[in-house]
Parts: sequence; C-alpha cells; structure tokens
Amino acid sequence: MQRSNLNKYLGVIGGGQLGKMIGLAAANLGIKSCFYDPDPDAPAKNISTLFFNEKYDNKIKLLEFANKCDFITYEFENIPMDCLKAVRKQKKIYPGIKALQISQDRHLEKSFITNLGIKVVKYANIKNFYDIENFLKKNTKKGILKTRKLGYDGKGQVRIELSNLQKINFHIKPNNYIIEELVRFKKEISVIAIREKNGRIKTFEPSENYHKHGILRKTIFPASISKNCASKAKKIAEKIIDSLDIVGILAIEMFVLKDEDIIVNEIAPRPHNSGHWTIDGCNLSQFDVLVRTIYNMPIPKIIYKRKCKMINLLGENFNEYK
Ligand code: AMP
Repeated sequence: MQRSNLNKYLGVIGGGQLGKMIGLAAANLGIKSCFYDPDPDAPAKNISTLFFNEKYDNKIKLLEFANKCDFITYEFENIPMDCLKAVRKQKKIYPGIKALQISQDRHLEKSFITNLGIKVVKYANIKNFYDIENFLKKNTKKGILKTRKLGYDGKGQVRIELSNLQKINFHIKPNNYIIEELVRFKKEISVIAIREKNGRIKTFEPSENYHKHGILRKTIFPASISKNCASKAKKIAEKIIDSLDIVGILAIEMFVLKDEDIIVNEIAPRPHNSGHWTIDGCNLSQFDVLVRTIYNMPIPKIIYKRKCKMINLLGENFNEYK
C-alpha cells in the first residue's frame, strides 16, 4: 500500500506504558496514533491526538475507532477476543490474531511450540486434584500450577510440592490450569524477533532477564551466554515467529539449562519489557521496528551501540534505585 493512501492513525488497543512507547515511535516516523483504553488516566493519553476512553466491549465505539485507523496494533495479550473480532472486520490487526490467541492460553501455547519440535517445560493440563498429584509423583515433586489464561507477572500461579499438597485447599475448575515442573535453569533470556510483510525475519540479539516473584526486575544486554547458545536461541525465535504468520514483533522468553540446552517458557506477540534496552542500545528500538513492519517500511541492519541494563521500576522497588 502506498504511504499516501495511509493518512489516518495507527490504532493502539491499550494506552499503558507500552502503548505510549509505540505511539512515540510512530510519531518519530511521522505517523499519528489513536489509543483505545477504558482507563481515563491511561499513560498514552497525554501523547495522543485521538483517545477513545471506552470499554473493550463497546462494539459501536470499537468500530468508530477502527474507522479512524490505517492499521491496528495492541500493547497487551489479554484483550477480549470479541473486541478484536469487532475491529478485525474493519482493519488489519498486527502482529496478528493467531499469535494472540495462542499466547492467551498457556496450554495452546505449549502444544503449539512442542509441535514445532521446540522444547518446552514438562507440563500437563489439569482437570482435577489427582492430575496434580500424579504429575508431581511422576516428575520433579516440585511444580508450578498456573492458570491457562489471564496470568501475567506471576499472577495466577502458585508453587506446589508433593509433600505439602494435601494441606493446600484447591478448588480446581477442569481445564483452567496447567501444571509445570519447576525448572532449575541457569539463566533466563529473551529474544525479540521481527517479521516483515514480505516474510523476511530478523532478530535482536538475546538479552538476559532476572525475575522476582514472577515479575521482570532486570534485563541486561548482551546476555552472558556462548555464541552457540545465542545462535540456537535466535533460530528458535525465527522458527516460532515464522510459523505464526506474524507481521511485527514477537518476544520469546526462554530458560537456558546447565548444558546450554534451551526451553521456551512463553511468547508475547507485542513489545516486551525485556526489549526496552533496544531504545538506548540500538539504532532501532523494538517499537520502531513494530511500527515500520506494520507500515511496510524498510528495516535497516540492527546496530548495537552499547551494553545495557534495564531496571523495571515498579512502585514498590522505586526507592532501591533512587
Ligand atoms: P511466566 O508468567 O510463566 O513467564 O513466569 C514468570 C517467571 O516465573 C518466569 O520468568 C520464571 O522466572 C518463573 N517461572 C515460571 N515458570 C517456571 C518454571 N516452570 N520453572 C521455574 N521457574 C519458572
């Protein structure tokens, strides 16, 4: 599509921190952004010229929003599917609905990745209490029970052990949970992969991540892993992004084991907190490449300018870094 045909807005569902950074990257490329967020104080509001402060189930407003936009993207995975279906009728949604559907459900996500021949943690879908017990008996005795949907930043998950299982008062809704074995990983890393409209794939180099209580606290670049391990991680990321038909970016979180074997933990078809280092560390950030791929603009060779450390400042750890 010619740029001249595109004179509306890049629509962004969700006006939080990530949405705001997408909007800033778009502005640098001369593209206006329009945000849709039910929160009247959404951080992106103060950089948007058009802001829909509406609920995600308001189909009339969603259509109005879609009609204002050239294309639509989103800043978080847990968008109600009905909301996306409403806007999809009007405009293309990037990085993609298939990727979003898969990443919204941990069971779908893990089976999709396994079917590509890529390793994930040992896991099982849980229908009742005995499934948990059986899994722990067969595997490592320690595990993490996770909700299949709507879990993020360590929410919707609990660590469990065979020895204290009887003491825990579970109310298990069938098919709402998975259990994973507790992995003793050496490092956590992530790769941000990019796929253009012509199907060309690139990746940023892996970064190394540190979590506390399931929440990302620190990312450092470059990851202290061997060249061989970095290349393996990038190949895994390329395979996953290609198989999801994405146009845009995909963050792939991985565990590196003692022998540098890699297993994939999670994927997110959107900008990711572990990719913020690209803002200062590279000639193009994860946000720049997202907007460029959506508008079919060239993606120059990625140049790495410096080593980086990103601290995720949350209300409670703010004082540690003053
Ligand atoms: P998740 O929401 O699944 O990405 O989990 C958040 C964080 O919890 C991960 O980045 C890891 O630090 C930790 N974690 C999650 N699943 C496992 C697992 N199966 N074994 C060990 N640590 C895990």
